[in-house]
Amino acid sequence: MTEQTAVLLVAFLVGLVVAAVLLGTASRKILPRSAMAIAGLAIPIWVVYFASSQGRSRLASKGLLSTMPDALWLGLTFGVFTAAFFLALGYIYGDAKRRQMPAWTWVIAAFLIPNFIGFILYFVFRGPLLGLCTSCGKPVRGGEAFCSHCGGLQGSSIGRIAADNRTI
Ligand SMILES: [Zn+2]
Repeated sequence: MTEQTAVLLVAFLVGLVVAAVLLGTASRKILPRSAMAIAGLAIPIWVVYFASSQGRSRLASKGLLSTMPDALWLGLTFGVFTAAFFLALGYIYGDAKRRQMPAWTWVIAAFLIPNFIGFILYFVFRGPLLGLCTSCGKPVRGGEAFCSHCGGLQGSSIGRIAADNRTI
């Protein structure tokens, strides 16, 4: 196995695992459709590009293996990796939104900061999941005792009893 094949295999498997996790039932609702569409298009686009004469001569000029099987394999790996990357960006967008964080700022940070450091920072600094106010139904931060919209008591059984009494 050449070094190139080994690197490709690792990248392919990492991309596949990340994509599979992100497409799992729990996070599929969070992913925007556009991210899934880009991810789906990335694979055929990269395969066709690397299999083309232009793509293969580009590979050869960089000293990489450029036979048709190698080019297809490289295209598939690039495709899976790109798909996983955009699914991860989509996940950050959807997840940041439901936590009332600036979604685009985090997506751009994750996109621009190299070596996936933007992604790591997001998961380190992301805010708590929001619950819904038991009184008015607006989003409320997990740890907050009172709703910032209506002032209703949150989370504790006292709050729930109070709300129940009010409806009775
Ligand atoms: Zn409220």
